[in-house]
Amino acid sequence: MTKEGTPVVAGHVYGLRLWSLSTGDGDFRLSSANARHEWRSNETRAKCGKDSHAAPAKHCSCGYYCFHANRETMLKVLMTTRRQVPGVFIAGVVKTWGRTEVHADGIRSEFASPDVLFLPGGATAAYKATLRELADKYGAEIWTGSGPQLLQRMEQDKPGLSSSLVQAGRRGRRRSRGTT
Ligand SMILES: [Zn+2]
Repeated sequence: MTKEGTPVVAGHVYGLRLWSLSTGDGDFRLSSANARHEWRSNETRAKCGKDSHAAPAKHCSCGYYCFHANRETMLKVLMTTRRQVPGVFIAGVVKTWGRTEVHADGIRSEFASPDVLFLPGGATAAYKATLRELADKYGAEIWTGSGPQLLQRMEQDKPGLSSSLVQAGRRGRRRSRGTT
């Protein structure tokens, strides 16, 4: 633990999240819907937008946010991507590392990188092409399958925090809002 009480987790921790799509300089990019932050493949270290402290900090909302993978959050992200309208949401797996704040519903991390993008069943040709372009840009994999299949694959290949660490993080912590 650091002096702020932020655990440093060894290795990579994976979680679920949604991105929105933005178009900068003629190409597609993953963006954070809440914080108007574009994810750049070469810039993954979180910064606090409010203060000069290192991100994430316990009493702040900074850091890269993702959900713990479970049936509920998988359903939530897949339902959102099913609409496939322009300005679409992209769901997938984020790889995180470094300093980490643990919350009941997810984590905030110091470093994060898009690792897997989910291709919804019956996706339009345009959605597929966009996903391929994004996967190339970020060096991410593309997975397709049902919610339970995607969850099982995550458990095998891209696990999240152990339940004991999540339980420890649930005690006395508030849900975080407005993070990147
Ligand atoms: Zn902060």
